[in-house]
Amino acid sequence: MITGIPLEQHRPDWQKQMARAISDPVALLRRLGIDPATVDLPEDTGRFPMRVPEAFIRRMRPNDLSDPLLQQVLPLGQESITEPGFLKDPVGDLDACAGTGLLQKYHGRALLISTQACAVHCRYCFRRHFPYQDNGAQRDDWSESLDYLVKHQEITEIILSGGDPLSLSDQRLKTLIQRLDEIPHLLRLRIHTRQPVVIPDRITPGLAEILENTRLTTVMVLHINHPNEIDSHLRESLAPLTRAGIMLLNQAVLLRGINDELNTQVALSDALVTAGIMPYYLHLLDRVEGAGHFEVREAEAAELYVAMREQLPGYLVPRMVREEAGKAFKTPFGTV
Ligand SMILES: *Cc1c(COP(=O)(O)O)cnc(C)c1O
Ligand code: SF4
Repeated sequence: MITGIPLEQHRPDWQKQMARAISDPVALLRRLGIDPATVDLPEDTGRFPMRVPEAFIRRMRPNDLSDPLLQQVLPLGQESITEPGFLKDPVGDLDACAGTGLLQKYHGRALLISTQACAVHCRYCFRRHFPYQDNGAQRDDWSESLDYLVKHQEITEIILSGGDPLSLSDQRLKTLIQRLDEIPHLLRLRIHTRQPVVIPDRITPGLAEILENTRLTTVMVLHINHPNEIDSHLRESLAPLTRAGIMLLNQAVLLRGINDELNTQVALSDALVTAGIMPYYLHLLDRVEGAGHFEVREAEAAELYVAMREQLPGYLVPRMVREEAGKAFKTPFGTV
């Protein structure tokens, strides 16, 4: 915890930006020149309050409630509408918890809930109801997960997820990655993160060095949904990672009113590849309680996907997938 001014001064800048994230929807709307009285804000967002860092707000258009970045983070009254089929744990994560904080659903790879914190709260997040406290992430203590990995030689890839693993300090990450490095059967380290997107300054020289120094082949999977999220600040921040030979991929979620138009998806792939990032997955929305208003109908998603294939080179078409509890891989969707 922050205990005084001297400590605050010694924190890296990105941590200060994270601590100063805006959590009041009214303040955010005023800042963007939107009258809060015209917006249906929820009375209570419970355990999943609004959270958005300044660096992300700067990429939002003022005076525009339909701005695609704003729409991803602004809590709306519609979240309290209970829609049939929308569940608290839509992808069966609780069943898949192999050890404390470790999820193994797929062959050869396991996902470590390395922390519960995120710099941004995305309203459509499928983990918005995930009981992190009961899954070891609260303590940031990974010993049980590491023991499990050591015992399971068939696991060759470890995925750091969360929350957002890059909300951990460089020191904590270094410790964790060094311990993973020592597990001989692990070949690859994958980091699933949205943090550099919302706080580009998170890519510190120290972080680049940690990722460069591990013997594990390192892949970073970013989470960018709209081309407006990619600006020169983000591109410059990612450059040291590309130079260090770290593979950059992107996963996006198909969101109604945000990125469900062909032009937006084409512009997203163009902007990604220009930033050195390859499109990987385009996920259909996980049907999590409170996110019903983001869902794109299946027929529309399938139509969009065909149109994307008609416009984009094959290597810039992300795989459209849906996650289904109990399946051995993410289910391809919209293939023709
Ligand atoms: C999505 C996911 C993965 C990664 O799947 P890939 O197809 O390898 O990208 C791994 N483990 C869990 C639990 C997941 O949800
Ligand atoms: S950054 Fe990822 S884990 Fe965190 S709230 Fe957004 S979608 Fe969920």
